[in-house]
Amino acid sequence: MSSELFYRSIAELAAALDAKKLTAVELTQAVIARTKAVEPRVHAFNSFDEADALAQAAASDARRAAGQSSGPLEGIPIALKDVIAVTGQPLTASSKMLKNFVSPYDATVTTKLKKAGAVLWGRLNCDEFAMGSSTENSAFGPTGNPWDVTRVPGGSSGGSSAALAAGEAIATLGSDTGGSIRQPAALCGVVGLKPTYGLVSRYGLIAFASSLDQIGPFARTVEDAAIVLGAIAGHDERDSTSFKTDIPDYRAALAQRKGPWKLGIPKEYFAEGLDPEIGAAVEQAIAFYKSQGCEIREVSLPHTKYCLDTYYVIATAEASSNLARYDGIRYGHRSTAAKDVVDLYFQSRAEGFGPEVKRRIILGTYVLSSGYYDAYYLRAQKVRTLIRQDFLNAFRDVDALLTPTSPVPAFKIGEKADPLAMYLLDIYTIGVNLAGLPGLSMPCGFTKSGLPIGAQLIGQPFREADLLSIAAAYEQAHDWTKKFPSL
Ligand code: GLN
Repeated sequence: MSSELFYRSIAELAAALDAKKLTAVELTQAVIARTKAVEPRVHAFNSFDEADALAQAAASDARRAAGQSSGPLEGIPIALKDVIAVTGQPLTASSKMLKNFVSPYDATVTTKLKKAGAVLWGRLNCDEFAMGSSTENSAFGPTGNPWDVTRVPGGSSGGSSAALAAGEAIATLGSDTGGSIRQPAALCGVVGLKPTYGLVSRYGLIAFASSLDQIGPFARTVEDAAIVLGAIAGHDERDSTSFKTDIPDYRAALAQRKGPWKLGIPKEYFAEGLDPEIGAAVEQAIAFYKSQGCEIREVSLPHTKYCLDTYYVIATAEASSNLARYDGIRYGHRSTAAKDVVDLYFQSRAEGFGPEVKRRIILGTYVLSSGYYDAYYLRAQKVRTLIRQDFLNAFRDVDALLTPTSPVPAFKIGEKADPLAMYLLDIYTIGVNLAGLPGLSMPCGFTKSGLPIGAQLIGQPFREADLLSIAAAYEQAHDWTKKFPSL
């Protein structure tokens, strides 16, 4: 195969590997060379292990030569967000707290990707403990957006979107608690899919807010996202929230399910604060579906205005509880300045956590404290039920919802200093997590200044196959996924 292998899709590369036009070692070498060339500008990775990746690639080539290829991911370099455990590799959550931590075990998604023959490549930068929307909260420095490295790639999985957009991996995994897959996918011009809550096991994912967290793929194309989702989905007895459901062949479904679909346009998602260029691009996507015979209906999600407040009560409450385990005793950073054991807890946490993580722990501890629990946490849980009901009501009339993913395109590193301004960026993505639904962001154009725009499709629980099919119909009629940043 010719140059720029690193910009090819999984589907194309798998065909070339099968046809023996390419080896996994050659492909991995191309990705490693690309990574080394652009990393000084992009900084998508916290760490990578060249020798280990090349050994995996050689093992993949040996399997293929022996007629034991495991399928479309055999020999494909995939990088994981640095909150997903890989045996023997660093696992930092982009926090000083876990700076020197090496994972003693594999996450279930890691095991599944290994079984599928993927070459696991590198630990991707993110906001500390996945808290943020820009990757600026990483303790190891921000990631640059490959379309303009002075701008953010989104977050919290900004390393995952930037590495893919820059050709430093063929696909990546991220995690999404309030938008952390979809928003960075939108800002970097790639496909990002947050599966239904319970579809993908979180065993081996560093927990942020356990009732919201899901792992999902970033990919160049909808078909690639279908391939990766198929490899990582499924029940796992090690995650009690993972659901017993049949996993369809998502890739095959793309060819089978053709619509026409009924799409809902939630009016609350096209309100004040939406960048006009993004609004116009999403309107054009709506017009495209209409031209294909889809029925377009305006729908209302009346509790949308409470999403942000509800999320920042529930997510911080769960985070404060999940992060209690970082005590300087069992693992992670341990202060050397402590006077006694109680002081050791205080000092280790004070030194190990960054400002945004501390803010969330304080907020979460407050909303859970006796006297405030009913007023905040319990009330937020009730509103959460209303938010989910809004979506389920809308789905009585439509197959999926179409919205913008992010109200703004990629902004400058350092531009949003106020935490509240950052929280407001999650306005279109967090309802999906609160309701436990699948959501997909796909490229739907560029701003005049050349920054990617994303459209979000929101689906019914466990109907990822529909969501992928709806997205593929749009993707095939446009050439956004064939445009690459000039780095
Ligand atoms: N930006 C949101 C937050 O800061 C979502 C993060 C995420 O999905 N992990 O909490």
